[in-house]
Amino acid sequence: MAPAPVLCIVIPCYNEESVLPLTCSLFRNQLESMAEGGLVSRRSRILFVNDGSKDGTWRLIRDLAASDPVFEGICLSRNRGHQNALLAGLMAAKDICDISISIDCDGQDDIAAMADMVKAYLAGNDVVYGVRSDRETDSPFKRLSAQAFYRLLGAMGVECVYNHADYRLLSSRVLESLSEFKEVNLFLRGMIPLVGYSSTSVYYKRHERLAGESHYPLPKMIALAIDGITSLSIQPIRIITVLGLAIAALSFVGVLWAICVTLAGQSVPGWASTISIACLLSGTQLLSIGIIGEYIGKIYLEAKRRPRYIVSETTLEGSRQGGSEI
Ligand code: UDP
Ligand code: MG
Repeated sequence: MAPAPVLCIVIPCYNEESVLPLTCSLFRNQLESMAEGGLVSRRSRILFVNDGSKDGTWRLIRDLAASDPVFEGICLSRNRGHQNALLAGLMAAKDICDISISIDCDGQDDIAAMADMVKAYLAGNDVVYGVRSDRETDSPFKRLSAQAFYRLLGAMGVECVYNHADYRLLSSRVLESLSEFKEVNLFLRGMIPLVGYSSTSVYYKRHERLAGESHYPLPKMIALAIDGITSLSIQPIRIITVLGLAIAALSFVGVLWAICVTLAGQSVPGWASTISIACLLSGTQLLSIGIIGEYIGKIYLEAKRRPRYIVSETTLEGSRQGGSEI
């Protein structure tokens, strides 16, 4: 029988000193029960990524790592955002594990679902998506905006699993393949389906945040949606082209009509309609330029090839495979 896989739970944290002391023991208990059940190796780890927190989050992580070998931490040199922090954690995990599970640190995602994820991996899946089966704990507005978010992504041709955020299991070969994706504009839930391999979903109930506040208010959600669409799809530019063609065709018909009316000896009536059409056209043009500008901005950022994150501190040195057991 194959040995139980070494699991690394990857948890990005930004200003989470209020919630971390509550959830770290929940993560540990879950890992311990999976190791006891023989699902995962006793050399499994919990890896926190401090995303440039301004509070005592890194101090807490360092203390945890010093007091218990199951905890590890890496610290980014500044805040780089959830997606970059997650990638930093996954790339660090790649060297120490057979499978990774990424999860938020606030207890909203059902920690117990990890066991089903590992079982789905053992059944032959390289990617296991954690999918929210209901959003009872979210406000009606959050539910509505999330629905619009996933539908918009789908309509724009971005392949991503409905109601799945960043709670997922990845095998080491998926992590290896993911390391080949060099883009700076990250939207992991749209990138993972591009990696391929066999995948499945595990459903869970989303809970309330145990403490602290969400870092994703509406403007950040919109920015994430724009990033997701513009870094993975060129559908908006195609829509502009089709819109341009349709408007050009309509204008041609309008001009023909105006010529015919003039030749028939009648003047073309109404300046109000002219003004409204001019306003509509200039609005459409500005919007189109904005969308194209968004892509040019993305190309500019990609062209510079700046590092996506810089690790300033780590507890991982000297704790590679073969280290102490839970
Ligand atoms: N997070 C991060 N960097 C950031 C913002 C958030 O690492 O710049 C982490 C945060 O600590 C949490 C996860 O990303 O573990 C998801 O954030 P949050 O719970 O605020 O989002 P929500 O669940 O409200 O969408
Ligand atoms: Mg949360």
